[in-house]
Amino acid sequence: CGIVGYVGARSAQDVVIEGLRRMEYRGYDSAGIALVADGTLAVDKRAGKLANLEKAIDESPLPASTIGIGHTRWATHGAPTDVNAHPHLGSHRRLAVVHNGIIENFAALRDRIEDEGITVVSETDTEIAAHLLELQLESGEDLTTAMQRVCSRLEGAFTLVAVDAQDPDRVVAARRNSPLVVGLGEGENFLGSDVAAFIEHTREALELGQDQVVTITREGVEVTGFDGSPAEGTQYHVDWDLSA
Ligand code: GLU
Repeated sequence: CGIVGYVGARSAQDVVIEGLRRMEYRGYDSAGIALVADGTLAVDKRAGKLANLEKAIDESPLPASTIGIGHTRWATHGAPTDVNAHPHLGSHRRLAVVHNGIIENFAALRDRIEDEGITVVSETDTEIAAHLLELQLESGEDLTTAMQRVCSRLEGAFTLVAVDAQDPDRVVAARRNSPLVVGLGEGENFLGSDVAAFIEHTREALELGQDQVVTITREGVEVTGFDGSPAEGTQYHVDWDLSA
């Protein structure tokens, strides 16, 4: 439902939680966060309100990190539980992904993943994308190429935002029939399902087109099609006031 991604110099935890709070008005049933720190993923995800997640993090703090993703879920596949909450991880805990929408062909993809000996732990359509992305990473691809390859195999409506524990410099996202906006900063960049995710940090936005993949780093933004061909989003200035 609500998605935030961040790479920069600030506390990614603060940016992600604040962005999720700004999108609470959309409604949701669970919330979660994944940070990249020292080559591993630090993850917490909880059914219930964002306050539940914040309480859990207070009691069991996450490591300092300047790159991360977060999600508030509106369940479509599987009940609102901690396990079904996003982010979803690959089985090696190398890849974390959050997702808005519905992956229509997830059942067929799940069967193929299980044939490879991978255990699927949640009831979500989303977890399938986590395993597919991690398999691509393990085959030696970078996260951008992995996202392009996996999205070409997905049907339905999705915004996906992912991080790789072994790559502390990029967050990669993609969209089909579901919104995705980049927030352009100085030495930092943002991703959101809507501009509320980052409006307090920047008003320079880049809206992604249909079937595009975007890679954000601290230095810049790169957009391609699912086939890897160069592409461009639509840049604009957000000049409305946020009344929330
Ligand atoms: N289909 C996914 C799920 O049920 C994503 C739901 C959403 O858009 O928040 O977990």
